[in-house]
Order: sequence, then structure tokens, then C-alpha cells
Amino acid sequence: MPELPEVETIRRDLNKELKDRKIVKLKYYDWAKMLKPSPEAVQKAIEGKKIRGFGRRAKLLLMHLDDHDTTIALHLKLSGQLILRKPTDPPDRFAHIILELDNGKELRFNDLRKFGFMKVIHNKADLAKLLSEFGSEPFTPEFTLEKFKETVAKSSRAIKTVIMDQSKIAGVGNIYADEALWRARIHPENPSNKLNYSQPKDLYEAILFVLKQGIEDRGTSVDQYLDAHGDEGEHARNLKVFRQNGKPCPRCGTIIKKIRVGGRGTHFCPECQHD
Ligand SMILES: [Zn+2]
Repeated sequence: MPELPEVETIRRDLNKELKDRKIVKLKYYDWAKMLKPSPEAVQKAIEGKKIRGFGRRAKLLLMHLDDHDTTIALHLKLSGQLILRKPTDPPDRFAHIILELDNGKELRFNDLRKFGFMKVIHNKADLAKLLSEFGSEPFTPEFTLEKFKETVAKSSRAIKTVIMDQSKIAGVGNIYADEALWRARIHPENPSNKLNYSQPKDLYEAILFVLKQGIEDRGTSVDQYLDAHGDEGEHARNLKVFRQNGKPCPRCGTIIKKIRVGGRGTHFCPECQHD
């Protein structure tokens, strides 16, 4: 699933390419459910409108239109892609939605698994309500060490599960959770409220570090993720533990193991990350 660094990379690309462009037409094919509340409602909200810019909250992309009340929320879920193409480019196999733009390009919303969506948010109050479901946003002043310490101290769930909880911390998913825990030398199954004195701070810093590195590398292409130009991100080559099971830990040489935590495949070093 695209996480904060992947969605942020797409946001920056789209802002550069589509700011002040007009959406001429929305075409959809075989999967109308991706358009919420209905394909007609999304068409009505966006056709003929100009894009003011793209925002992001957690893993949600926000397309702001020149009609100031309306925002389109886009979620890529497990396998969504937003790729700018020319109409003459070869078709994308899983393109379910295409936005035709006034510069002759088109934005294709591809999704192999079809969980992604595009949703009309009609006013500021509804947008505020939607965004209030998310916890602290990394790289904003609200994501402080103090608040992070409070969050981890409040839960007895596995620390990995807590840092992936979108209502607590926004944007961290399976890849960056595994990477941050390795960096902070914390076992993913450790009860969150049992972290010792320096561990919460180490983990807080590790989360920011791995997310920042992910953004600098333009995301991690281990599954379907591609940037808005259709190119892979570079971060896969910088992964230390995620999907590295069977390989030596880059820090101590111990073989990386894979377990399941909260139903999610979890990769860690049994030597550096013991409890
Ligand atoms: Zn190790």
C-alpha cells in the first residue's frame, strides 16, 4: 500500500504538472464503485473545474478545485496509481478512471485491486470531519515528541500496531513501520507501553528519518506503486528489513526473520531488535 512518502511524491508531481489545469472530462470504465457517492456526482463536481492544487493528509490525497467549497479526496488503498499520460500512450491495463485535462494530457487512476476511490467532499465542514479521523501528521508542528510519548504510553498493543494506527499517527504503514522499528532497535511485538526510557524518542526520530528518506527516494516500489510519471521509486534499494527475510541484517549480520504482527507480515532482526 502506498504510504506517506509515496502519496507525498505523487502529490508533489501532480502539483507541479496540474496546478491551474482544467478538467475537461471524467471517463470511467468497469468499476463505478470507485467514484463516491456516484460517478455522476463526481463528474458534476469536477468537469469544467480548474485544479487549485493538491494537498495530503495521512495517505489521503486532496484535490482542491477552483470551486472553493469542493474537494476531491483520492485514496490509493492497496494498489492504486495516479499516472499522467498522453491519450496516444499505450493503455494501462487497470485504468478504471481517466481525467482528461485541458493541456492534452490525461490522469489515469489505475487500480489492480480496486479498493481505491475518488470521493466528492461538498464543503469545508465535511472535509474537516473527514480529516479529524487521522492522528498526528508527521512533519507538522502537531507531531511532537511529547505527544508521541503519550500515544505509546497509552496502549498495551504491539508497538508496530500502534504506530500503524492512522487515528494515532498519520501515514505510517507496513513498510515504514518495519524500517523505523529496525532503526530504533525495537522488537515489533513489544507492548507499546513497555518501551523503556530512550526507546520512544529513538522510535520517534526513526519514524521521521525513514519517512524523510522515503520521500527523498520518491517512494518504495515493491508492489504496484509508481509515481505520477509512471516511474518506480528508488527506496526499495535502501530497505534494511522490509521483505529482506533470509538476508543478513545490515547492522549485525544476523538473518532477518519474518513473523506476523496484527495480521501483517513483519520483518525484523532477532539480534538487534530483541526485547
Ligand atoms: Zn541486526
